[in-house]
Amino acid sequence: MLMMIRIEILNNRDDRKLALTAASRTAREKKLAANISRAIVLAAHKEGKPGISFGRYGDSPERNGIPAKYFAIVATDEITLEEGKAKYEPKEVDVSICVDDTLFKGVESWAWYGLQPINKLLKPGGTLIVTSLKEAEDLIPLAHRKETPYKLAVLKGTPSFSGLWVYKDDHTDVRILGAMARVQPDLFSLGSVQETIREEWHNELKATSALRAFERITTVTVPVGQGNPEVPYSFEMPKWTEMREGIAIPGIAVGGEMKDPITGEEGGWRPGRNAVFKKWATRTMRPVVNFDTCIKCTLCWLQCPDTVFDVTPEGLYDPNLEACCGCGVCEAVCPVPACITMVNETQFKDNSSQWEAWRKDAPAYQAHLAEWIKDRPERSHGFRFRGQYQQQLPDEFARQG
Ligand code: SF4
Ligand code: SF4
Repeated sequence: MLMMIRIEILNNRDDRKLALTAASRTAREKKLAANISRAIVLAAHKEGKPGISFGRYGDSPERNGIPAKYFAIVATDEITLEEGKAKYEPKEVDVSICVDDTLFKGVESWAWYGLQPINKLLKPGGTLIVTSLKEAEDLIPLAHRKETPYKLAVLKGTPSFSGLWVYKDDHTDVRILGAMARVQPDLFSLGSVQETIREEWHNELKATSALRAFERITTVTVPVGQGNPEVPYSFEMPKWTEMREGIAIPGIAVGGEMKDPITGEEGGWRPGRNAVFKKWATRTMRPVVNFDTCIKCTLCWLQCPDTVFDVTPEGLYDPNLEACCGCGVCEAVCPVPACITMVNETQFKDNSSQWEAWRKDAPAYQAHLAEWIKDRPERSHGFRFRGQYQQQLPDEFARQG
């Protein structure tokens, strides 16, 4: 029987930056998705199946935090593989692997595409594997609805998120490989996966991690009609006949004043922003602000690399979530304890103004704030936890009690 299996791997976002900026081959090989993609092909090869692994990435005007994709194509013979390779990238896949559950809100890796659902490329009945601490029922509403059923396989674990120049060796790659052997047994066996891990990583602990993932991964079927009902935003690109003469690219428009939602009073300042590149899907965390304790020191506004803060009429600073990439700098520079807190993006369903919510009902906002900041999972951009898996785990267990 001829068979071709296509796998899509949605990468950790900071790895994306690593891919773009690292010049050396060694650093490139440390990328998480590249590791997974390459090892899939190697393990399949052990069972006589030829394959290829390759990467794709977006080239947006504002690259910070843009997700990257890797693909692996495995076939039963060379001719079938050639057929798969002939396409620039697969239009549908048997398995999608998502190593960051905040990508469930959608992937904006190519700015002019708008937002792509995390399950977009999955074949009917295909499997979406995700590493997450959440349950399937908490994740399903975040992903866009699909017209065909698909399977969701949750591999319990902290999303791997390390930092621009750091590869966190947290076993995510080998755990995904073990999970793959379970959800796609016609691709390769657990034995082939473990053999590959021993040859590539020379680490028996990693081979055991793959076994544990194989044993523990859970799968549910997501029927049609479940998930986020919103139509993902997209942009109409001009035809070449409609383009402006010359090569002038219009700058971002000047901003304007802000209106107080209670008094109607104008004042403050909202800068103009990019109309076609929203960062709603870019960040893994977002800042939440305690407007009652803010001392209006301006540091968040000054230090934010993306000009995110709107200045409110009374001189507070409201993070505009159209523009925030979730870097965490504002939290790091704010001098007031817990005045800005970075919170896991999966906790939010919209991007509305925090300041407007606070102006309309401060006690209700404070109650939300207390709920949001209660759980601060290990994430961030490498500066909250520096180090490797073996040191992180005891810390994490202690934090979780
Ligand atoms: S996390 Fe803070 S500093 Fe970073 S882009 Fe968002 S608002 Fe700006
Ligand atoms: S850094 Fe903190 S205290 Fe200073 S203006 Fe921003 S939110 Fe307020």
